[in-house]
Amino acid sequence: RKCLNRVKKTRHLNAYITVTEEQALKQADEADDRFRRGAPRGPLDGIPFAVKDNFCTENIETTCASKMLKGYRPPFSATVVQKLLDQGAVLLGKTNLDEFAMGSGCTDGAFGPVRNPWSYASPYRDQSGLEPDSDWVITGGSSGGSAAAVASLSSFLALGSDTGGSTRNPAALCGLVGLKPTYGLLSRHGLIPLVNSMDVPGIMTRSVHDAATVLGVLQGHDVKDSTTFHHPASLGDLPDDLDVRKLRVGIPQEYHAPGLSRETLSQWSRMADLFERAGARVEAVSLPHTQHSIVCYHVLCVAEVASNMARFDGLEYGHRSSVDSSTEALYAATRHAGFNDVVRGRILSGNYFLLKRSYQHYFVKAQQVRRLIAEDFAQVFSSGIDVLLTPTTLSDAASHAHFMQEDNQTRSTQEDVFTQPVNMAGLPAVTMPTALSQRGLPISLQLIGTALQDRKLLTVAKWLE
Ligand code: GLN
Repeated sequence: RKCLNRVKKTRHLNAYITVTEEQALKQADEADDRFRRGAPRGPLDGIPFAVKDNFCTENIETTCASKMLKGYRPPFSATVVQKLLDQGAVLLGKTNLDEFAMGSGCTDGAFGPVRNPWSYASPYRDQSGLEPDSDWVITGGSSGGSAAAVASLSSFLALGSDTGGSTRNPAALCGLVGLKPTYGLLSRHGLIPLVNSMDVPGIMTRSVHDAATVLGVLQGHDVKDSTTFHHPASLGDLPDDLDVRKLRVGIPQEYHAPGLSRETLSQWSRMADLFERAGARVEAVSLPHTQHSIVCYHVLCVAEVASNMARFDGLEYGHRSSVDSSTEALYAATRHAGFNDVVRGRILSGNYFLLKRSYQHYFVKAQQVRRLIAEDFAQVFSSGIDVLLTPTTLSDAASHAHFMQEDNQTRSTQEDVFTQPVNMAGLPAVTMPTALSQRGLPISLQLIGTALQDRKLLTVAKWLE
């Protein structure tokens, strides 16, 4: 009830698209009953959670923040959602996002932008001297609603999705722990796809320990997602101590990217020093193909978007235009009205890259470059590096007014430089806040680990926390 009250009190953030109050109260009562009988189901029994609105939820509207899916009530729940429900966790509602998870600001969805709760916190208000209503900062995206829900204390945890950084970016700008697990560790069944070969469900919490607990519940093979596998160890329990002196921490030189703020840079070196002082070996490493990652992502992303979006034709799901002079005309009118500019732009460019005459030159090339990016990481880790320490975003959160000055193509990817390469390689990464900027907003850093070493990664994150 406290969480539901908090949802109401924080309506101005626009974090939730749907609030499932009635169902939540019923689930909470059931959990309460189990507690009274001394038979809770596990660590998440009775814990309220929120879910990004691109995960299917049985009988609950699932929109992807698009007019296209208005009114769509899936007949099933995504595996990760179902696992939380089976554990007794209480679903509070579905959270806002950029349309179909395309974006990095949470400013480009059909339900309007999400406001970062830090815009209303005293450090920012005192520093900016502005009324939050005239100058609020973005949450980052695309899972901005999930981040705002956890950061504004209406939910204890939230699911996001992460294709190029969509969980880590808003978690970073809202001061949360944001985990992108190894690709294949968590089922994508029921997560409406953006880029199938890069999408993973992401976890947002207020502590590393909480993120590990959720990971432990969600991990595992799913017969409904052939890319998942069984991991023999439980990832939910982290060891209490870590021998930092045995740790080798890599600092990728290419991550000194243009646009990196002075404050983020100084946090980055402060944390590197912290590791060093504790006895870890901190070394400069090179990931030479990093600079090609965003361009290469764009080719691969839009190509997958072009084919994934073909299912939204006005016949099977959600919105259907009244223009019915021919099937073609119905498709065109539905898609024109249903999708925003970002989605339509990506479908168009994706189809261009997939044309017979462009396929080799763009799509196949981008796949080859993707391989090189993944090999860069593999080489660094095989040299004995345990984790990489990098910034998560270029700076603290931008004001909405400032962010919207960019064209939508730039704003959907400008902040992905540090997060996106990880998705190319399928590696685990976690972001965590380490300081407040002078503006009174969170600054966060990212740790990247080897595939399947999610537990080790979280152990190092916990130490840093
Ligand atoms: N910003 C990237 C994009 O727009 C990544 C989005 C994501 O991770 N879902 O495609």
